[in-house]
Parts: sequence; C-alpha cells; structure tokens
Amino acid sequence: MSAESQAEPMVLIVSGPSGSGKSTLVQRILELPGTMPSISCTTRPRRATESSGKCYDFVGEAEFEAMVRRGDFLEYARVFGKHSYGTPRKWLEKSRETRRDLVLEIDVQGAAQVKEKLPEAVAIFILPPSREELERRLRSRGQDSEDEIRRRLGQARDEIQAFGRYYDYCVVNDDVERAGREVQAIVVALRCASARNRGRVQELLASFGGKD
Ligand code: 5GP
Repeated sequence: MSAESQAEPMVLIVSGPSGSGKSTLVQRILELPGTMPSISCTTRPRRATESSGKCYDFVGEAEFEAMVRRGDFLEYARVFGKHSYGTPRKWLEKSRETRRDLVLEIDVQGAAQVKEKLPEAVAIFILPPSREELERRLRSRGQDSEDEIRRRLGQARDEIQAFGRYYDYCVVNDDVERAGREVQAIVVALRCASARNRGRVQELLASFGGKD
C-alpha cells in the first residue's frame, strides 16, 4: 500500500475527573499496537511514584513560559488554578512520522483547544459511576487534604457539565475490565471507519481495474 493511500494517524483525547480512573484506561488504549502516548510538560512537583519523562516532563515555571513563547505547545492550560500543563507539538509530529495514533490524557480546557485546532481529533470522556464512588476513590488514595478533595469534587461537576460540548464518546468506569474493553473498542471501530479507509479501498478497486 502506498503512503498516500493511508489516512493520517488519529489524535485521541482522553479526559475525566480526577479519580475517574482515566490513566488506567489510557494504558489500555496504549496496549493496542499502533498507538503512542503524548508526554505532557508540567510545572507541578513530581510525586514520589513518578519518574520524569515517563508520566510527565517536569519543568520549572520559567522553562514552561519559554516553551509557551516559542509556540512549542499544541495546547496548554492551568489546571486547578495551580500548575501549568501542556502538550508539546513534537508528539504530534512524531505520531505522524511513525504513523501511530497519538493518545493525549488532558483536561477539558486542553480538549477544547485541541478540538479547535484539530477538529478531526476524537475525544473520550471517562465518567465515574457516581459522585459517592468518586469521593470514595479520592479519599482512599490518601493523597489529598479535605479541601483538595472538595475542590476536586467541584471540578468534577464542572467537567461533567462541559462533557457535551467537546466529547464524542463517554465510558463509565464502574468496572475497569469492561471499561478497558470499551475504550479499546472505540479506537478499533474508529480505525475501521469507512472515511479513514477510502484510500485503501480505492487502491484495492484499482487492482481490480475499477474506479471510484
Ligand atoms: P495530575 O496533576 O493529577 O497528574 O493531573 C491533573 C489534571 O491535568 C488531569 O486532569 C490531567 O488530565 C490534566 N493534564 C495532564 N496533562 C495535561 C496537558 O498536557 N494539558 C492539559 N490541558 N491538561 C493536562
């Protein structure tokens, strides 16, 4: 098959409230061959469980601002009004060079910016089964203060409200195995969409001596 007959790789956005389990579901998508992660830059301090360059590239405020000025980011936002997060454009370039679908785990503000620039990007929203379950998960992580938990729950309500504006799919993460199969199924179905396979069909048709 010629390179021209192949569609551009997809840009897949995954968002969801803190505690919705979106990172686990992003990992399920990344288990599919032909996908790659985008590694965000952030000014937030590294947690003990995180290594730089794996989950995030941890950078200082000055470096982040310099990247903004240089136009290095596809999108960037201040999340929870505290720290900055951004998706470097280089991952989009790499995904196109290596013809792998790019997976962005970003918040709703970032999703809005990416959809504006790349309307063909596909956005998946991960929902917790209920408010009670989200609160239980946030508490059981033992990571946040009472104030932080309340803030994250308020943020969750705002994000769920914004869902209809930017997201093409939603998956309820009540059972991680089923939800994992659902996110993988979304990606597989998108890859089979007829519009994405037009070039391939034309080529096949030509080999039969036919024309579109
Ligand atoms: P955390 O600090 O808990 O890792 O992430 C906080 C929030 O920032 C999450 O909702 C996460 O999806 C979002 N986030 C992570 N990377 C990016 C990014 O590059 N851009 C935007 N807009 N949000 C991001």
